[in-house]
Amino acid sequence: MTQYNLQTSITYLKGVGPSRADLLKKELGIRTVSDLVNFFPNRYIDRTQFFKINQLQQNSSEIQILGKITSLKIVQQKKGSRLVGTFVDETGTIGLIWFRGVKWIKDAIKINTPYVIFGKTNWFNGAFSMPHPEMELLSEYKRNLKTVMQPVYPSTEMLTNKGVSNRVVQKMMQSLFEEIGTNFRETLSDQLISEHSLISKKDAIFNIHFPKSQELLTKAQYRLKFEELFFIQLQLIRKKLIRKSKIKGYPFPTVGAHFNKFYTNNLPFDLTNAQKRVLKEIRKDVGSNAHMNRLLQGDVGSGKTIVALLSMLIALDNGFQAAIMAPTEILATQHYNSMKELLEGIDVNVQLLTGSVKIKDRRIIHEALENGELNILIGTHALLEDKVKFKNLGLAIIDEQHRFGVEQRSKLWRKNTLPPHILVMTATPIPRTLAMSAYGDLDISVIDELPPGRKEIATAHRYDSNRLNVFKFMKEEIDKGRQVYVVYPLIQESEKMDYKDLMDGYESISREFPKPTYQVSIVHGKMKPADKEYEMSRFLKGETQIMVATTVIEVGVNIPNASVMVIESAERFGLSQLHQLRGRVGRGADQSYCVLMTSFKLSADAKVRLETMVKTSDGFEIADVDLKLRGPGNIMGKQQSGVLNLKIADIVTDSHILSKARAAAFEVLTNDPSLQSVENKPLNLAYKNMHKNREIWANIS
Ligand code: ADP
Ligand code: MG
Repeated sequence: MTQYNLQTSITYLKGVGPSRADLLKKELGIRTVSDLVNFFPNRYIDRTQFFKINQLQQNSSEIQILGKITSLKIVQQKKGSRLVGTFVDETGTIGLIWFRGVKWIKDAIKINTPYVIFGKTNWFNGAFSMPHPEMELLSEYKRNLKTVMQPVYPSTEMLTNKGVSNRVVQKMMQSLFEEIGTNFRETLSDQLISEHSLISKKDAIFNIHFPKSQELLTKAQYRLKFEELFFIQLQLIRKKLIRKSKIKGYPFPTVGAHFNKFYTNNLPFDLTNAQKRVLKEIRKDVGSNAHMNRLLQGDVGSGKTIVALLSMLIALDNGFQAAIMAPTEILATQHYNSMKELLEGIDVNVQLLTGSVKIKDRRIIHEALENGELNILIGTHALLEDKVKFKNLGLAIIDEQHRFGVEQRSKLWRKNTLPPHILVMTATPIPRTLAMSAYGDLDISVIDELPPGRKEIATAHRYDSNRLNVFKFMKEEIDKGRQVYVVYPLIQESEKMDYKDLMDGYESISREFPKPTYQVSIVHGKMKPADKEYEMSRFLKGETQIMVATTVIEVGVNIPNASVMVIESAERFGLSQLHQLRGRVGRGADQSYCVLMTSFKLSADAKVRLETMVKTSDGFEIADVDLKLRGPGNIMGKQQSGVLNLKIADIVTDSHILSKARAAAFEVLTNDPSLQSVENKPLNLAYKNMHKNREIWANIS
């Protein structure tokens, strides 16, 4: 490198200049030489492939043809002129058209000389044409080996409009590499390179921009994907190891009276093997004096609640308080009721704190919490209020993790000297690869087994036109003593319409299922909490047979006698939401059903979602399909976009590379935790640079 270094602004580069530099910064975030070097093509066009003119098809992408221009003429039109050429090969003829640079191009083109033309063809009036083809004399083309695989760089409409075409970017790259050479510093250790048969950094960078062959391109892509994923994993695992060694937690050495008494006298069933395993993992964490920060994944109905309760009892046995925080009042109340019932006969003070607890009662709770009389506090966001101060919170459990932000969680332990152990429970299965990236610094437990005796929920897709049959089916089930949910979407953007649909639906169901034979409940977000509670409790007690609701019932509600879930406008729900809703039934011993109602008009994605729901009830399988449909960013939300915003790797399609990179990172750090060895010097340097240049996303707690 001459006067350039990687941090030099691209303004000074040949073919760039201030206005283009500005545009590239705005549109693509490219500022420096380094940014440009690491701006990778998102696809390549194989320039070894030629089309014959008689093979052309409508809507084909960019193609190249070998042939000659036999005639060329300028056609005058209202505004300016255009240049029209006739291009032939041995199979046919197409037209070439230029609207810009007409005169200059006409002079430059050689008639009846072999050319390679390249571009997108149009089909118009029964003939093919190619506007503004890229052209190269065959003789030149043959000399120019490096354009065999033509890179196509990501672009934006603005860039195209301002004339920064792919060709321009390619040229920019060419002058860049002519200027700076390809002497890039190696970022991986020799050992990693040989163990994983990787090509060097400089070969990879060169071939990603100017592939010499398909084979080298593949190797370059593999090397760069591996590197990208490796450093993310290195960072995540390192963070985790540091956290484990630095952040101390309260050690819970004892499994004592509360736990043992509960386990022998109160546990209503045998734990599944998965529940036992997870409990062991938790005990191992809290038993040492490391700090637990664990994500517990378990499908709906897999029995996370009992694991939560048993963990809290361990905290109590060691003289600490425990708390569980749920996203909705209904859910918190349900946790409270079922835990009270489970704890019957055990000397534990459990209280419920939600927004609707009266001020007077709240004061009592606050006091008992501060003086330590209160052992377990269950509640909603109300737990995060400033007045809520624990005497010694030892374990905080967060149910349905995706609904709480990072800052909120830390509010829970403001009075502690050490952070309490954290257990985050989610019923939204996260695909393994995604969990490794987004939560790579957390410990993860999985309950991958349902309690015995559960029957698969029979799931069907029905069109609205079939509604009468669905009503008939609901009646049959209600006659057997079962209860039915009918759920309507409530999407913020179309809130008004959705409420109307909900009310219309409620009316038609009330007509179809008249009093006094039937009783119908309705619950939605605009009702007062007390009214909601009342309607829920009527349904829970079996006083009503049908619950018409919006997705407020999505999370966690447990009513074993409800065996039918009808989801209206099912095409409007996401996969994980459908799966969650379906999980509200199938909680008792009876055969349960889920009916997905839709209109006839369905998008391709909606069809896949519905088919997936009908085909499987495995939450992880559903999560995988969801990931493929929506992409990682949409699933994890903005919070994790830092690790998911990848330059070249793709979490979905490169999961095999991810696993290898993670294992490699783990091995490196196990042998050399702070990357001090001579061997790992390149890693250490690259890691430090990465930290300097990139903002890292926030930790989960
Ligand atoms: P989730 O993981 O969705 O929170 P829950 O904890 O609500 O699931 O459990 C669902 C139902 O399964 C509850 O009625 C619970 O009592 C029951 N259950 C949990 N574990 C077992 C088990 N090991 N054997 C039998 N039933 C169980
Ligand atoms: Mg639950």
